[in-house]
Amino acid sequence: MGLRIPIIIPVSKPSKGSAGKTGLWRVERPVINEDKCIKCWLCWLYCPEDVISEGKNGFPQIDLTFCKGCGVCADVCPVGAIKMVKEEREDEHRR
Ligand code: SF4
Ligand code: SF4
Repeated sequence: MGLRIPIIIPVSKPSKGSAGKTGLWRVERPVINEDKCIKCWLCWLYCPEDVISEGKNGFPQIDLTFCKGCGVCADVCPVGAIKMVKEEREDEHRR
């Protein structure tokens, strides 16, 4: 038997909140249209912040406290069920 050398593959696992509480600086937020969603879970698979989980009705729900608004979920959704919409901060506009 020859010498066995273990192969180590570096894997980056998304962790919730790695970008902090993003609601304070996010420019856009994802909005899911449940009428279009086919529950393929690609958005969950590709979200780099691991902030998508199953909601009460079986559709994906997004934790906006930690979502950074990167738009990856909207890009990978095969049926266009996720739309990125601008964050409105009325209090900032009035200052
Ligand atoms: S925009 Fe979508 S992919 Fe990006 S962090 Fe938020 S939920 Fe995840
Ligand atoms: S990627 Fe789109 S269709 Fe698939 S579960 Fe997410 S929102 Fe639904």
